[in-house]
Amino acid sequence: MLEINNLHVKLEEEDKQILKGVTLTVPAGEVHAIMGPNGSGKSTLSYVLSGRDGYEVTEGSATLEGEDLLDLETEERAAAGLFLAFQYPVEIPGVGNMTFMRTAVNAQRKARGQEELSATDFLKEIRAKAKDLKIDAEMLKRPVNVGFSGGEKKRNEILQMAMLEPKMCILDETDSGLDVDAMKLVSDGVNALRDDNRAFLVITHYQRLLDHIVPDVVHIMANGRIIKSGGPELALEVEKNGYADLKQETA
Ligand code: ADP
Ligand code: MG
Ligand code: MG
Repeated sequence: MLEINNLHVKLEEEDKQILKGVTLTVPAGEVHAIMGPNGSGKSTLSYVLSGRDGYEVTEGSATLEGEDLLDLETEERAAAGLFLAFQYPVEIPGVGNMTFMRTAVNAQRKARGQEELSATDFLKEIRAKAKDLKIDAEMLKRPVNVGFSGGEKKRNEILQMAMLEPKMCILDETDSGLDVDAMKLVSDGVNALRDDNRAFLVITHYQRLLDHIVPDVVHIMANGRIIKSGGPELALEVEKNGYADLKQETA
């Protein structure tokens, strides 16, 4: 599904190399987790994959189902089936949550050559999915993320993901700032979307999220590279011993 090969990325406005050769393959049907200390480049990787401005790819490649992602505009990446749930979901004052989602869903459908959803069908679907995530109707009417609590923003990201039905879902610290109940809701939302034709890249600081969303593979990122990959037990090892041992081991 997602293939990243020797990806090198620097900041556009200063001479700072952030990703220093990331290589990673996420097959369809699998959930891969990326853990790593603060500042190791995890968010940068997700931003570069989603096409955010400000970064320059100096070497390497990233493809989605064989298609060169780095060549595409952000909206083309979304149309190709890529979805990023942000570490810090943005507030969009003046744009209703429902309107925002309907526009996004219909743009996605159009890109896939499907007909627009009727207003009734859209309402039915979003209400059912919002209910699963315990998002009340009031939140659907408010401007996107404005005045939402941290947990509400994260649940709203998962609702967007559930509505868009992307192929490749990247979640950047979707668990940060969540209490135990909210984390369970978010994890259930993700698990409900697990599918043979879909893949996930779950970026997290904490092992506990991976108790709920059990990954197939865990990668450890440090200083702009993947320094180790393994099964779910690798996350437990990190939780117990921290990153220092691993960094030394691979230095
Ligand atoms: P992580 O998500 O693993 O905590 P980030 O990808 O956010 O790491 O950041 C990696 C490194 O790149 C950090 O040292 C961070 O300060 C730096 N960095 C990322 N984006 C920028 C930016 N726009 N300007 C300056 N430094 C940045
Ligand atoms: Mg960080
Ligand atoms: Mg980050």
